[in-house]
Amino acid sequence: MTPSAATNLPTTSLTMLAQTAAQWSLTPNEAEVERLLTICNACRYCEGYCAVFPAMTRRLSFAQADIHYLANLCHNCGACFHACQYAPPHEFAVNLPQAMARVRVQTYADYAWPRALGAAYRHHALTLVFALCVGFAVFLLLALLRQGTFIHAPLAGNFYAVFPHHLLVLLFGSVFGFSLLALAIGVRRFWKAMASPQAHTSAPAVAEATHDVLRLKYLDGGHGEGCNETDDAFTLVRRRFHHLTFYGFLLCFASTSVATLYHYVFGWQAPYALSSVPVVLGTLGGIGLLIGPIGLLWLNLRRHPQHGDATQRPMDRGFIVLLLLTSMTGLALLIGRDTAAMASLLAVHLAVVMALFLTLPYGKFAHGIYRSAALLKWAIEKRMPNRLQLGTD
Ligand code: SF4
Ligand code: SF4
Repeated sequence: MTPSAATNLPTTSLTMLAQTAAQWSLTPNEAEVERLLTICNACRYCEGYCAVFPAMTRRLSFAQADIHYLANLCHNCGACFHACQYAPPHEFAVNLPQAMARVRVQTYADYAWPRALGAAYRHHALTLVFALCVGFAVFLLLALLRQGTFIHAPLAGNFYAVFPHHLLVLLFGSVFGFSLLALAIGVRRFWKAMASPQAHTSAPAVAEATHDVLRLKYLDGGHGEGCNETDDAFTLVRRRFHHLTFYGFLLCFASTSVATLYHYVFGWQAPYALSSVPVVLGTLGGIGLLIGPIGLLWLNLRRHPQHGDATQRPMDRGFIVLLLLTSMTGLALLIGRDTAAMASLLAVHLAVVMALFLTLPYGKFAHGIYRSAALLKWAIEKRMPNRLQLGTD
């Protein structure tokens, strides 16, 4: 057998992949996952690592919807790659996390709404993020120059003296509304594709999936000691940095929500004191959103080259940098809110937040939503009778 330079797979295996792809109308990446799952389903050594393996053992074959479901159930912890006796250089060349990652990123674009934006983000994520940040920042800074407020007398943190409240609500409300709609349509398409007629959502299943999402359960490697990052050693750092990022984001969101309640329900106008609930929540969230993405970027830069899909790294890094810029510009605005530079700090922060909102449905943020949907499906599925009885649920 002649090995292929591109994939290190023997040419006979490549021919089989092409036949499988044609038979199930699978893409080459999906066909590779199908090939690996067929091997894993016979081996089952990794059964206790994560939900992917018990979900896999409920199936004897893998159609496109199964592959999309299992790819989004995978947390890319790397445990099954480091444990696998058939990993490269074995001729089976089993690298399940990498194959899953390639399909996963394809699903973000396949289910995205509008699809053209999903595809554009997939191929040009860094350029898009950079262009949106710079474009919005230049636009807002020019607006400040035009109204003569680029540098101004200190305004005691009164943002609305620079950009009126109703203008900010209109701008950010419409962009955030669009992002929520796009995410909702995307996850609904994904859910419909995975759906099975016998499956019914129940309160215990929702509670279990929520618990697993909030704890990032499967980033513990299945044994509680964590993921593999650069080598065979386990570490919980990725889980910790994910938690800081996730809860930092939620605290920032809570801060904005409380400020909205203050404004519309109680009639309390910004600026709020440093000790007020919105500012405290925003500061704590900003710190989490600073430390978490710095850690994730550091891990991304030194990750084992065979983990995940190297072609996605610009997209991953684009999102991490955008989160970092959001927290950095937000904290800079907090520090400089009583100075003459407040308006320009605000303009830059608003530009970054606008770019973040616009790209939320198409990249790494979407993976959190799709993964949550996959975890819910697993929580439902495991409560249904297993007609095969071949694995340990
Ligand atoms: S990843 Fe390797 S060791 Fe684990 S179940 Fe699959 S074939 Fe077996
Ligand atoms: S990489 Fe981790 S989460 Fe993904 S299939 Fe392997 S063990 Fe499961």
